[in-house]
Amino acid sequence: MTRQLFVTTALPYANAAFHLGHIMEYIQADIWVRHQRMMGNAVHFVCADDAHGAPIMIAAEKANLTPQQFVAQIASGRKQYLDGFHISFDNWHSTDGAENHELSQDIYRKLKAAGFIASKVIEQFYDPVKNMFLADRYIKGECPKCHAKDQYGDSCEVCSAVYSPTELINPYSVLTGAVPVMKSSEHFFFKLSDPKCVAFLREWAIDGNRLQSEVANKAREWLDGEDGLGDWDISRDAPYFGIEIPDQPGKYFYVWLDAPVGYLASLKNYFNKIGRDFDAFMADPATEQIHFIGKDITYFHTLFWPAMLKFSGYKTPDRVYAHGFVTVSGEKMSKSRGTGISPLKYLDIGMNPEWLRYYLAAKLNAKVEDIDFSAEDFTARINSDLIGKFVNIASRAAGFISKRFNGQVNTLWATDTDSFLTSIRSIAPEIQALYEGREYGKALRAIMEQADIINAYVDANKPWILAKDPANDAALQEVCSRLLEAFRILTLYLKPVLPEVAAQVESWLNIAPMQWSDVATTLPNGHTIKPYQHLLTRVEPSIFEALFDAPTAPVAEDSAEKAASANIEELSAEISIDDFTKIDLRIAKIIDCVAVEGSTKLLQLTLDIGDGRTRNVFSGIKSAYQPEQLIGKLTVMVANLAPRKMKFGVSEGMVLAASASDEKANPGLYILEPWPGAVPGMRVS
Ligand SMILES: [Zn+2]
Repeated sequence: MTRQLFVTTALPYANAAFHLGHIMEYIQADIWVRHQRMMGNAVHFVCADDAHGAPIMIAAEKANLTPQQFVAQIASGRKQYLDGFHISFDNWHSTDGAENHELSQDIYRKLKAAGFIASKVIEQFYDPVKNMFLADRYIKGECPKCHAKDQYGDSCEVCSAVYSPTELINPYSVLTGAVPVMKSSEHFFFKLSDPKCVAFLREWAIDGNRLQSEVANKAREWLDGEDGLGDWDISRDAPYFGIEIPDQPGKYFYVWLDAPVGYLASLKNYFNKIGRDFDAFMADPATEQIHFIGKDITYFHTLFWPAMLKFSGYKTPDRVYAHGFVTVSGEKMSKSRGTGISPLKYLDIGMNPEWLRYYLAAKLNAKVEDIDFSAEDFTARINSDLIGKFVNIASRAAGFISKRFNGQVNTLWATDTDSFLTSIRSIAPEIQALYEGREYGKALRAIMEQADIINAYVDANKPWILAKDPANDAALQEVCSRLLEAFRILTLYLKPVLPEVAAQVESWLNIAPMQWSDVATTLPNGHTIKPYQHLLTRVEPSIFEALFDAPTAPVAEDSAEKAASANIEELSAEISIDDFTKIDLRIAKIIDCVAVEGSTKLLQLTLDIGDGRTRNVFSGIKSAYQPEQLIGKLTVMVANLAPRKMKFGVSEGMVLAASASDEKANPGLYILEPWPGAVPGMRVS
C-alpha cells in the first residue's frame, strides 16, 4: 500500500547561516525521504525559516534592516547549501508567511474556545529607554551570591548560582545599559497542567510508541517530575517580531508557539502552489506526520507541540525522530580551535557533497547519539569503502564491455535461479527495513559486505586474464555482465545516500531512474551501455588543511554570515588613555588547569607571569575548553585586578576571552593567545 507521508526537519533560526549540524539533519531526513520515494510512497518534504522573536528583531535593528529584510537576506543564502548537498525539500517557506499567521491564530482561537488558554498578570523587568520587556538574557548585573559583575539575569557564570533577575544587584539592560524597572503585564498561558492535557501526553509521548525509547523516557521524567507540567507562557509584549494574538492588541505569540506551526504553514504553502487541498490531506487518517529534530528541542516537540495540536482539533504527529549533535575530532565545533567546519567552505574547496552524505550515513543510527567527524575516518571510509569496494567494481568491468563487446551486455545467464544474483538481491528487504528504521550505518555495512562478495568474484574469475585469449570472449562477456548487473543493484541500494552517483550510473548504464522495484529486474540481454565515465574521486588527505585552516577567517562570500556578523555588541563609552593604562594586561603561561568540582562553568587556572609566583584564576570557560587543551598555552590576563573571594576559592585576576553578543547564533567562547615570541610577564598595551 502506498504511504502518504508529511516529513519535516526542524526549522532553522533565521539569524545565521547553516552549520554542519543543520546539514547533518537535512541529510538524515533526505536519505529517509529518498528511500520512501523509491518505495513508491507519496512524500511531502518541507521546511521553513524560523523568522520570529526578539533575537532577530534586535539583530535586524543593529544591521539597520527591518526584521523582514533581515530574514529575507538569511533566506536567500539557504539554496546554495540545500542544492549543494542534494537535499530534496519540496518546499521552503518562512514562519512569517501568511499561512503561518492564519494557522497560528486559528490554533490559538480553538485552544481558547476549548478552555486551554488562561491569562495572568506577571511582573517583569522593563527597559525604560528601549520601551520593551526584557527576557532574562537581556539583563545583566552583579551576582547576588559571589558579587561577580556582569552576570546574566538567570544564573552566574562565575559561581554557577541560579536566581531570578530581580535578585541581581545593580541590574542593567544589555540593550541600552538603562536600569530596568519592574512593570506588570498580562500574559497568556497554554494550560499544559490541565489533567486532560497530562493524560493525553502520557498516552502520546509514553504509551503510544511514537518516540525513541530515550526520548520517551525523558518525556516520562518531565511528566512525572515533582512539579509536574507548568502552564506555558505563550505571549510576549510589543515591540516583538511575531504574530499578533487575536483580539489582544500589542500582544504577540512567543516564537516557540508559531515556529512548529511553520511545518503546517510550509505544507499549506506548497499545496497552494500545486493545487492540492491541505485540509483534506491533514484530515485523512492515512496521512503520516513525521518530524526529524535535534535532541535539544525534544521538550517542545514531545509536550507543547502535540498538546497544542490535539486540543485545537488538529492532527497530532505520528513520529518524532531525534538525533544527536555533530562533534569534530571528539570536540564541540569551534572556529578558534580550527575544528569548525563551514558547509559552504566544504563545497567551495571542491569536496564532494556525496562523500559527506556517505560518511554521515555510515555513522548514523536510530539512537539519539552524537556523531563525530574525523578527517582520518572520513578518508578511510570514502577511499576504502566507497571507492575501493564499490566504484572499483564498475571500473573493473566497464572497459571490457565497451571495448570488446560494443557496450553490449550478455545476461542470458541471469535466470531466477542464478545464485550469484539471488544472493545480492536477497538482502533488499533487509536494506529497506534499515533505511526505514534510520539505521543507515547498518545498511551501508550490509551493502559493503555484498561489495566484498562481488570483489571476491572478480578476483576468482580474473577478467584481465580472460581478456588475453579471444577464445574466452564468451566467458569474459558473462563475467563482466554479471559485474555490471551486480553493480547496478548495489547502486540501487546506495541511491538514497548517493543520488548523484546513482544518476550518473543510470545514465551510463542507459536505464531509467531506478526504484526499489527494480531490484527484481535485470539488464535485458544485448542491452547497450554508454562509455564509462569516472564516478567519484578519492579523498586527498591534504584537502583537510583547506577545510580546517585559518580558524578565525570569516567566510566572506557568505552573505548570511555577513548579516549575522553585523550583529555585534555596541561599543562602550569612550575612555582616555589613562583609563586604559590602569589595566595591567600581561602575557601569562597556563601552567596548570583543572575542572572545578561542583561547577558546570568554571575552570581553575594556575598562571605564571614571570614574577616568581603563580596566580590562581577561576574562569567561566569550561563549556569551550578541556583543561588539558590549555595547559602550556600562553594567554592574556588582567594582572592587577583586586583578588576576589569566590565559592571555590580566591581568584587573583582574569583571563581574556571573546564571545558573541548573540549566544544563540554563536555560543562559542574564544580565549586569547599571543603570536609566537611573546613570553610570560610581557605587558600588553
Ligand atoms: Zn556568582
